[in-house]
Amino acid sequence: MKQRLGLSTRAVHGNPDARPDWAPIAPPIYQSSTFTNPIGSTAEVLYTRYGNNPNQVAIAQRLAALEGAEAALFVGSGMGAVALAHLAVLRPGDHLLSSEWIYGGVHRLFAQEFGRLGIDVTFVSPTHARDWKRAMKKTTRAIFVETPTNPLLRVIDLEPVATLCQTEGLVLLVDSTFATPINFRPLEHGADIVIHSATKYLNGHSDVIAGAVAAAEPVIEEVRKLMQVWGQALDPLAAWLIDRGMRTLAVRVERHNQTGLRVAQWCATQSAFAAVHYPGLPSHPDYDTAQRVLTGCGGMLAVELKGGARGAERFLRALKIAAHAPSLGGVETLVSEPRLTSHASLTPEERARAGIPDGLLRFSLGLEDADDIIADFTQALAPL
Ligand SMILES: *Cc1c(COP(=O)(O)O)cnc(C)c1O
Repeated sequence: MKQRLGLSTRAVHGNPDARPDWAPIAPPIYQSSTFTNPIGSTAEVLYTRYGNNPNQVAIAQRLAALEGAEAALFVGSGMGAVALAHLAVLRPGDHLLSSEWIYGGVHRLFAQEFGRLGIDVTFVSPTHARDWKRAMKKTTRAIFVETPTNPLLRVIDLEPVATLCQTEGLVLLVDSTFATPINFRPLEHGADIVIHSATKYLNGHSDVIAGAVAAAEPVIEEVRKLMQVWGQALDPLAAWLIDRGMRTLAVRVERHNQTGLRVAQWCATQSAFAAVHYPGLPSHPDYDTAQRVLTGCGGMLAVELKGGARGAERFLRALKIAAHAPSLGGVETLVSEPRLTSHASLTPEERARAGIPDGLLRFSLGLEDADDIIADFTQALAPL
């Protein structure tokens, strides 16, 4: 089939050419650590820690098709994916430039662990392309950004960063967890490596921990070698659940996009909120960038309650449909407080300076009816 398939078709089928006769439509779970081996064969053995179990292979091919990548690989968590992708391109003595607006666990990995491996990291405010150039050293090898960011949904324009990486010979790594390949495909914007916490939208049902890397074949080969020796392979059942989840990725994300915009617009009319952060609202600092580069703005949004931390607590206690829980990207609406989760290690002053004052709530909007989510938020605001 030569025509380029749409994203929904790719999410359901991966590569439809590869279908043999009498194959089950739903894949079996190969819950097996090992496989029979032809006697005398020197070919690589099938062993689930090697990432070549059929369930692992199927989802890797599907993600590669969605991202427009040569190859992809799933590993045991999003953190595992970030760690291995960087270890695949960095060596002791190398310098990494990282956006300062990144997932808390990744910040800890870079700030606390990479130093022990002789990898030096500088955190850069990612809004001005010239700041990247200014922070460069002779040993700089790579740039890492997350977009859209957590929890303020800043959308980073990759084009100038990618241009800098090309002229300076740097590798550009992008954590695209919030966007998914339905809303944004970093490789089409000059990135070299895409990273996902598959725990979130790719699986989409809050029942699996997994991560993924998509890139050119030699990079994925390097990640694969690291995965094998650092023991990061995904369990077959987790792979099977992701296979099931990814089939509906396109429709889920389209619905998250609609509900996200609807709820954000409603939030913007509520006097209890001092601020609403959603890149699909013209009031968002990256509205123009989002309109240009994203297909949709997704189901993540943040609001700042005028009532501060106490107001946030009252709101959370009153919710009936939305659950108070960390994480995101599932079918159910979750609300979390960054002051107690991703940004708990900062002081209240540091958080306020980062634009994350106490009273900020992050919503991961699920697939419920938008009217019901709005009604739930409305009744939770009533006592404030
Ligand atoms: C959750 C998350 C991670 C870490 O993923 P895990 O699957 O929890 O290890 C990394 N980056 C982003 C943007 C995330 O939201």
